[in-house]
Amino acid sequence: MESLATKKPHAIFIPFPAQGHVNPMMQLAKLLHSRGFYITFVNTEFNHSRLVQSRGSNSVKDSPFFKFQTIPDGVPPSNPNATQSVTSLLYYTQKHSLAPLHDLIRKLNSLEDSPPVSVVISDGIMSFAIEVAEELGIPEFQFWTASSCGFMAYLQFVELPKRGIFPLKANTVIRFTDENDITNGYLNTLLDWIPGMKNMRMKDMPSFVRSTNPNDIAFNRWLEEAQNNLKSHAIVFNAFSEFEHEVLEAVTSIFPRIYTVGPLSLLCKSLPENEVNSRRSSLWKESNECTDWLDKQGPNSVVYVNFGSIAVMSDKHLEEFAWGLANSGYPFLWIVRSDLVMGESTMLPEPFVQETKDRCLIASWCPQDQVLSHPSIGVFLTHIGWNSTLEGVCGGVPMICWPFFAEQQVNCRYACTTWGIGVEIEHDVKREQVQDLVSKILEGEEGKKLRNKAMDWKKKAEAAVIEGGSSYNNFNLLVEELLQMSL
Ligand code: UDP
Repeated sequence: MESLATKKPHAIFIPFPAQGHVNPMMQLAKLLHSRGFYITFVNTEFNHSRLVQSRGSNSVKDSPFFKFQTIPDGVPPSNPNATQSVTSLLYYTQKHSLAPLHDLIRKLNSLEDSPPVSVVISDGIMSFAIEVAEELGIPEFQFWTASSCGFMAYLQFVELPKRGIFPLKANTVIRFTDENDITNGYLNTLLDWIPGMKNMRMKDMPSFVRSTNPNDIAFNRWLEEAQNNLKSHAIVFNAFSEFEHEVLEAVTSIFPRIYTVGPLSLLCKSLPENEVNSRRSSLWKESNECTDWLDKQGPNSVVYVNFGSIAVMSDKHLEEFAWGLANSGYPFLWIVRSDLVMGESTMLPEPFVQETKDRCLIASWCPQDQVLSHPSIGVFLTHIGWNSTLEGVCGGVPMICWPFFAEQQVNCRYACTTWGIGVEIEHDVKREQVQDLVSKILEGEEGKKLRNKAMDWKKKAEAAVIEGGSSYNNFNLLVEELLQMSL
């Protein structure tokens, strides 16, 4: 077996250590494994422990030709059950993970029972791996796990200071947890010069533009990461060309070597069941009650609420969402992470729990891709992270968008305009709006339109990943190129 192993092309995967990055990276790794690649999947030590804790040691157990390794992230110790700060991760990994990654690849290359690393596939925001790959003379591909429209928006961070739009003026109210925040002043500036993007306003740009500090760490880190992608050999997107057509054309005119191979969760459905492919990469323990509960609900009747792995809210927001759902009268499945409320552990109001207990299920984590494909789901109340958006599209589900941070603002703009599958709810959410939007989508004419549109996109996504589809073809081209580079 090992002599076969030493002849294989070897791809090493370096995901950014957050759930929304580890999942699509794992999907791409499984797909390449199924095409004969030897895979090394590199988690941070912190996430490796979380995976073992939530899913047991089997989740990171080596299989033939699919191995796990770890590197440190350098982030000071934090709650071992919660997502680490994204800005800290961006800041520290760049400083502290480069040398360990270099050493790891050198170590792997000295082993006799595995092939030398032939390609580095690094997360689009772990671009220090480009430097490592260059030093070691190994080809490097970036995998941008977020939306292509988000990518184009980040590429514009260079342009914003030149045009005097960033930093925001000191008197702008920018903390987007405040009332009346985003309607204010400069955030309404129309950005009509972005290639491939229409009707973008400053408030639709990734949240990091909301700063009055020209040296803002988050803004500058994202600016650099986006630009660094352009130094890579090629960029892979978890996107399908039909969905983000215009913006992808514009990206291609800036950087032609791109592969759109999404939605990866759909492409993975063609993989055979085996030890590697059945592995899930959830950092939280998944509740196994959801599917049974959903099976008991009527078609398109359930409000599914999930704000992903990073978004946090105030206890006031939690209460407004809770009473909005309660007052709507519909059944709902709400995933409430223990760290969903800022700075405290999440407590739902007791009268709300009593009033709704017969028509809701509250859990702390679920297999979301499966939930969103269940026929009972009628609407998805979401922070509109990219994986959630794609999973919603694959389920043909309309969305109520409560964007939190990063490029979720961009995704929200696209969902509510270009794609026609969503409506936005104000950041400073009120229970009446929740109730109103839920019933409009589940029963009103607007809801029907959104659902039809979502079903159209679902069909297009399915067509993209079957034989002859755009993502199917692009994935084959990607495999070919990776194989050639491994010779
Ligand atoms: N997810 C999940 N169960 C949950 C919540 C989230 O499996 O209860 C997965 C979801 O399917 C997606 C990822 O976590 O693949 C979240 O990524 P996304 O880009 O939507 O948002 P982020 O968490 O990065 O903000």
